[in-house]
Amino acid sequence: MPNRAAWAEINMGALSHNYREIRSRIAKGAKLCAVVKADAYGHGAIAVARVALEEGADYLAVATLSEALKLRAAGFTTPLLILGLVEPESAREVVDGDITQTVCRMDLVEALSKEAVRQGKTVKVHLTIETGMGRIGVHPKDAAETAKKIAAFPNVELEGVFSHFALADIPDKTFTKNQVKLFQEACNAIEAAGIHIPVKHIAESAAILEIPDVHFDMVRAGIIQYGLWPSDEVTRPIDLRQCMKFCARIVYVKTIQPGESVGYGRKFIAERETRIATLPVGYADGYIRAYAGGSVEVCGKRAPIAGRVCMDQFMIDITDIPEAQMGDVCTLFGSETLPTDEVAGWANTINYEVVCLVSERVPRVYV
Ligand code: PLP
Repeated sequence: MPNRAAWAEINMGALSHNYREIRSRIAKGAKLCAVVKADAYGHGAIAVARVALEEGADYLAVATLSEALKLRAAGFTTPLLILGLVEPESAREVVDGDITQTVCRMDLVEALSKEAVRQGKTVKVHLTIETGMGRIGVHPKDAAETAKKIAAFPNVELEGVFSHFALADIPDKTFTKNQVKLFQEACNAIEAAGIHIPVKHIAESAAILEIPDVHFDMVRAGIIQYGLWPSDEVTRPIDLRQCMKFCARIVYVKTIQPGESVGYGRKFIAERETRIATLPVGYADGYIRAYAGGSVEVCGKRAPIAGRVCMDQFMIDITDIPEAQMGDVCTLFGSETLPTDEVAGWANTINYEVVCLVSERVPRVYV
């Protein structure tokens, strides 16, 4: 059991199930890259990567060098792609860790090449193309020239070319189709320059679900691994099961009188005799102040949050749940009846952010 009366339960059976469902959706011949950045969207990168590989994932992807190094230190020898840019000064660790690096800056390619030569290795890179995300990537018209330059560097292998969708999770795919067109044109230009591209990839969760003809050689599955949908607007052609359930025990119960208040700013003032329960979770755990106004589940019922969420604790009103008592386990989100999406709605955010925010000090319990 965790050493805290608050924990995030991660359902490994649900995770395995989701991989099988995802696999059934991927176009034939396309590889599966499991996106385990941000500690696998808060689910625990090492535990998730293990299941992903057992279920046949071909590649792992993270956002940062430290995330990649953590996986290498845990013994994963699988191909591992850093989706973001690293500093050229980090080239030694990238090459040393046999990590595949995203590139679109020549100073980084140059640093990687120098380091690969020094270590007597070949470094794999994936060139990212800007097709509409406006984040990182070379303009499609510069793709062939850039690829030629990359190919000319010693000890650098251009293994992949990729791009990322900005709007694939809505029904109107006009913008997405244009991104595909630009990506395809960039790839064609690179190939016309005599450079073979072993792995082309652009599809994330929404495109895995809805656009099988853009799966190319690999898809990058993120949020759907964890049993959450990329948006309310995507079709749901597979059965996904939520993997994370955030739980906490009631650690204190008291009764307050009309006029007495709860929490910072005295935002909750009792209008009647009120039973207040305290949960040992706060915004430092990723249960943010913006959730105030929401509720938790206890004894199969909903208890509203009373007042503001503190850094390490918050209170709920259990007056209408007389059976609720100290020690009872509350669900903060991730059950069928209190889905993560609902909590995201309270804070006007997305399920991605809700799970990513669950901080390191919340023990993960793998069930
Ligand atoms: N690929 C890249 C480059 C990303 O940045 C992300 C996530 O932000 C993903 C894939 C996975 O996206 P999703 O979680 O929507 O599948």
